[in-house]
Amino acid sequence: MTNDGDFRCPTPTAHRRLDEAHKWWHGCLNSYDDVDNFRANLNAGVQALRNVTWMIQKEKSLVRDFDAWYAAWQDSMKADPIMRWLVKSRNRIVKEGDLEINSTAQMRFVHGYEGAAEIYASGLPDSPIAEEVARTISPLTRPSEYAKRLPHMGLPRYIWQDTVLYVQRRWVDQALPERELLDALAHCYGFLARIVADAHLRDGYELGVREIRGAISIEVPTEHLSGRLPCMASTLMKRTSAYAIGEDGPVSMIYQSQAVDLPKLSLDKIDKRYKIAPDWDSRLAAATTLFERVPVYMERAKKILEKDKNHITLCILHQDAQPIDFFPIDIETHADKMVISQIIADRIQHRGADGAIVIGEMWIAPESRDGEGYPVRATDNPDRLDALAVVAQDRTGWGRMITSIYTRRFGKVRFIHEQDESGEDVQHGLLSVASRMWASWGPTAID
Ligand SMILES: [Zn+2]
Ligand SMILES: [Zn+2]
Repeated sequence: MTNDGDFRCPTPTAHRRLDEAHKWWHGCLNSYDDVDNFRANLNAGVQALRNVTWMIQKEKSLVRDFDAWYAAWQDSMKADPIMRWLVKSRNRIVKEGDLEINSTAQMRFVHGYEGAAEIYASGLPDSPIAEEVARTISPLTRPSEYAKRLPHMGLPRYIWQDTVLYVQRRWVDQALPERELLDALAHCYGFLARIVADAHLRDGYELGVREIRGAISIEVPTEHLSGRLPCMASTLMKRTSAYAIGEDGPVSMIYQSQAVDLPKLSLDKIDKRYKIAPDWDSRLAAATTLFERVPVYMERAKKILEKDKNHITLCILHQDAQPIDFFPIDIETHADKMVISQIIADRIQHRGADGAIVIGEMWIAPESRDGEGYPVRATDNPDRLDALAVVAQDRTGWGRMITSIYTRRFGKVRFIHEQDESGEDVQHGLLSVASRMWASWGPTAID
């Protein structure tokens, strides 16, 4: 939060303490693996947050009708257990010593998108800690030792091969055992940020979050964050590593926290390369809803496939039916899909996107089972058909999917059948974690 030129901030010191708390919060996140630094940042962060309310009271003469206004906020702070924890924690730090914090690493096995969504949901703002973990291990355990600690699962190899082992780091204060610490701090930040924003609003000034993108600064939607900044929405992926289970049981890393960011892509270049019809852009613009864009994107996807004989998987995030972010999705193994579906949800959460479109190739195969009765994946099914799919989903839970089945003969792609479905059960697996995340935003106002 920063102030514009002429505007007189009604709570300048409180506002500065809030900004400081944001910096300490990042200090905690960046030192998540380092006890001493983590503690130093935590102590400073707790005190900065606690200072916000004191400074608001000190600067009361600057806020109109302060007493009545602040009394209402005070009541809601007292009713909030995490804000009460903040007050007590600050007193403990200043008067008694450090908080009794401890760090653990949890191992959990995940099989399929549903499990990936469940894990992701456990890291959403204000989520209580999920207790069913496969095993709690010392945070000092090295990844090479994880395999030795795997419980015997008694599952057939077929299942093992599709399973991802998640190892999640977590700091907890013993006085607040049901919350991960950074989530608790972000909760307090959000609470106090709403008070500071409300003080500004009394003078007719709306505090928004702006993000610099290239040469322009644009307003970022934050209604879903209850006062938190987008960077505080979820730290789960930064505290997580994911491992694939190999043939013999041991693990190989598929995701290292803080190591992966989705690359960016320029759509202009795509349009030039594939000689998209000149009115393509205007037709895309004329599609006023996310779902009307699906056939327009399909048209371009077909051009790309005809020329290249393959189509990368691409995700386009939308806000108010306007594209705000594009990135390619690179999937090598079945296990990758679970982690990638979480990374997409994370990106959507941070960007405040309310819709997404996934474009890419897929296989369609009749249901079939192998000799042992396990379902055969489309990848392994000889009767599979090649298809191109464009899937759109938005935060209401609605989806639309156009699937175009094609054949490839003598180097030529021929489209033979197209199907257009929409409804609440129309979903792309890669967006299933996002759907779960969107549901946490609460109901939408339908105009
Ligand atoms: Zn201010
Ligand atoms: Zn930040």
